[in-house]
Amino acid sequence: MKTEEYNLKQEIKEEVANALRNGIDNEGCAVFRVMRKEHYSPKGKAIILNNDFYEKIIYKCNLCRACGDDLCASFQKARRVLVLKDKEMNANREMIDNLKRTGNIYGIQE
Ligand code: SF4
Repeated sequence: MKTEEYNLKQEIKEEVANALRNGIDNEGCAVFRVMRKEHYSPKGKAIILNNDFYEKIIYKCNLCRACGDDLCASFQKARRVLVLKDKEMNANREMIDNLKRTGNIYGIQE
């Protein structure tokens, strides 16, 4: 495991444990309000993150910070971990390729 990945995972564990200890407001989460399933709630996602199952939930979050700056930062870090593990979404790879090729994420030649 790379040092950055290890450090991010440690930070995530601490932030998630802290958020779970202090309580998490699920109702502010737009994803949870639409999906109405516990694993889409900030608390559900925090528990899943705490168990290292990043891929299962991390793109079910729009990083809006309504659940708190620290917890949202953990979701952002979890995405970084997936990128480091080369497990990012194909759509992300496509946008990066487009950006390198054309200077915009859509791949539009100017
Ligand atoms: S940051 Fe993610 S989990 Fe938190 S409220 Fe926004 S969508 Fe929900």
